[in-house]
Amino acid sequence: MSKPIIGIAGSMYVEEKPSFAGDYYDYNNNHYSQCIAKAGGIPIYLPVINHIDIIKEQLSLCDGLLFPGGADINPLIYNELPRPLLGRCNDLIDSYQINLAKLAFSTNYPCLGICRGMQLINIAAGGTLYQDISYATKTPLLHMQNGYLGDKCHPITINNDSLLNSMLGNKYLVNSGHHQCVNTVSSDFKITAKSPDGIIEAIENTSSSKLIFGVQWHPEMLSLNDDKMLNIFKVLIDNC
Ligand code: MN
Repeated sequence: MSKPIIGIAGSMYVEEKPSFAGDYYDYNNNHYSQCIAKAGGIPIYLPVINHIDIIKEQLSLCDGLLFPGGADINPLIYNELPRPLLGRCNDLIDSYQINLAKLAFSTNYPCLGICRGMQLINIAAGGTLYQDISYATKTPLLHMQNGYLGDKCHPITINNDSLLNSMLGNKYLVNSGHHQCVNTVSSDFKITAKSPDGIIEAIENTSSSKLIFGVQWHPEMLSLNDDKMLNIFKVLIDNC
């Protein structure tokens, strides 16, 4: 059997070098591609292009999708007004990734969301976010770690009745690079892990369709040296 092709949902940054100042550049952290390859898949990159027919064709090239980390998501998408601690958003990226996710859900593609990607799949399925963790709890842990994301930051507790538990067990140390978090979980998902301050750290879908799951931390920064963590990518690929 040929290896499953995993499309990495595109993101963009604005170039600052004078010769291309202000232009959008497609990018992703190469760790995502390396982890997909190490776990037995073929990574391909799907550039941001806001044209639904092209998004359909992009999806048709894939067996599964990975939604990566990135900037904040515009709260207008989940019908909330922006609050003062909202970070920078980009409507072009949001629109592209939400359309890709909704199409992937409706046509039954396995999906993994990482950090912003978990928040995005929750929103695409009808959930909401806290625009900053300080709106969720008065006593948060550090969730935007100051050191390298290849280091661990805080523990999570993993629910028994979850696929994640079969990958990581009941407790695990994870890294953390987020200032937003899930508020209302989509009715299509259940919570599968939390940090000790009650922040939702993982979700997975409850329907019998293809696996859709998300983690709030960055397994791509840990999995090259941690076989248990690599299971997150393996499970995505095994479900393709
Ligand atoms: Mn965290």
